[in-house]
Amino acid sequence: IKTDSLRKVYRAEEVETIALNGVGLHIEQGEFVSIMGPSGCGKSTLLNILGLLDTPTDGSHLFDGEDVSGFSERQRAKRRKGNIGFVFQSFNLIDELTVYENVELPLLYLNTPSGERRERVEAALDRVQMTHRKGHFPQQLSGGQQQRVAVARAVVADPKLILADEPTGNLDSTNGTQVMNLLADLNEAGTTIVMVTHSPADAEYSGRTIHLFDGKVVSENFIAQEYAAH
Ligand code: ADP
Ligand code: ADP
Repeated sequence: IKTDSLRKVYRAEEVETIALNGVGLHIEQGEFVSIMGPSGCGKSTLLNILGLLDTPTDGSHLFDGEDVSGFSERQRAKRRKGNIGFVFQSFNLIDELTVYENVELPLLYLNTPSGERRERVEAALDRVQMTHRKGHFPQQLSGGQQQRVAVARAVVADPKLILADEPTGNLDSTNGTQVMNLLADLNEAGTTIVMVTHSPADAEYSGRTIHLFDGKVVSENFIAQEYAAH
């Protein structure tokens, strides 16, 4: 991922909000990066752009080597499919679908054949240890279990990039640690992860923390190097 002079200006009811004000980032394939900063500094806006859910007002955004900053909604949707997995603070599972069906959904959008679908869903559920709950509905699960299902859904199509927006924000520390360990395992296996977090403990799972303030990058810490210095 590479961004240069990325800006995002929201215009609503004659009010202009500059959410991002010149963000330059370079995230290598296989990195695990956390983004921190106070509420309103632009973290979610940045994550939405990196995830091709939204477009910047100005500046360039390269995803997997391609400039996607001018992509239409349709082009972005096509590029997201199978390439980017999302994990949200509020889990965002579909209440009317079972655990199994929630995890299967991205593969249905990709028209994956049924045999391969079954294998992939079962492998993803196994990975997050939720196989025993595959017939349950989200409301029958604890928060930690729901987030593990959301992680299974994010990885089932084997995306290159996982974006996580405060993935442990609604979890107690035991469940939070479980979800962070899952993300760390996925990163270990090669998936690039970009995570917004308020938790310094969660940020320690990543290799680098980017601090945003008023829509700008104000500092970057390489955690591995910090440790190496001790
Ligand atoms: P953070 O995730 O760091 O809390 P956000 O990216 O959500 O920050 O918001 C950055 C700024 O942009 C805030 O001032 C917020 O009010 C504003 N903002 C975010 N989304 C919108 C929107 N859809 N319309 C107008 N303003 C928005
Ligand atoms: P939490 O401490 O996260 O609120 P809960 O008390 O909701 O946890 O859940 C504790 C356990 O009971 C979990 O394993 C959850 O899956 C199970 N559980 C909770 N509600 C239901 C339900 N309506 N049907 C089946 N199992 C449930």
